[in-house]
Amino acid sequence: MNYCSQCGSPVKFEIPEDDNRPRHICTQCHHVHYSNPKLVAGCLPVFEDKILLCKRAIEPRNGYWTLPAGYMENGESTRHAAQRETLEEANARVSDLQLYTLTSLTPVSHVQLIYLAQLEDLNFSAGDETTDVRLFTEQDIPWDKLAFQTIRNALHFYFEDRKSGIFPTRHIDLDMPPGRYVEQP
Ligand code: ZN
Repeated sequence: MNYCSQCGSPVKFEIPEDDNRPRHICTQCHHVHYSNPKLVAGCLPVFEDKILLCKRAIEPRNGYWTLPAGYMENGESTRHAAQRETLEEANARVSDLQLYTLTSLTPVSHVQLIYLAQLEDLNFSAGDETTDVRLFTEQDIPWDKLAFQTIRNALHFYFEDRKSGIFPTRHIDLDMPPGRYVEQP
C-alpha cells in the first residue's frame, strides 16, 4: 500500500503507538490501515463413492484439479460461502455441510475452511473459473495433478476417515513458503 484509501495521501509503514507491529499509517489523516488474514471457504462434495473436483481455468495452478473454494464475501457465513463457491465453480448444489479441514496458511496469511458436503444431484458443469468438473473415485484421483497441498490433505483425510465412517474436523497449520503448493512427482 502506497496511498491512503481514506484521503489519498502517502502512507508510512510504522509501528503505531500502543501497538507491537508495523502498520500502514496515513501521513495526513493518520488512519491506521490494518491488514488481516483472508478467509477461503470451499466444499469436498461427495456423491456415493465419488468426489467432485474442478479443473482450474485460472492462475495460480491453471490446469490443475481442485475442490471448489474461494474467498469469502462480506456479509455471508462460511457455510454459505462454501456453497456459493461450489455453485459458481461447478454449477453444483450441495447440502449437509460439515466443517472438515481448517488450515492456517501462515506464509500467505490465508485461513481455509473445507466443508464435507453431499452433492445433491448430477447436474453440474464447469463454471467461469473452471474448464472441467468430474467425479472421481479414490483410485482415479489425479494425485500428481492436484492444485494445492490443502486439497491433497483434505482428500487424504477423507479416504482415511471413510474406512471408519467418522470424519472429525482436522486442524492443520501449513508453514510452506508461498508458491510451493504441491511436490512434483
Ligand atoms: Zn489518509
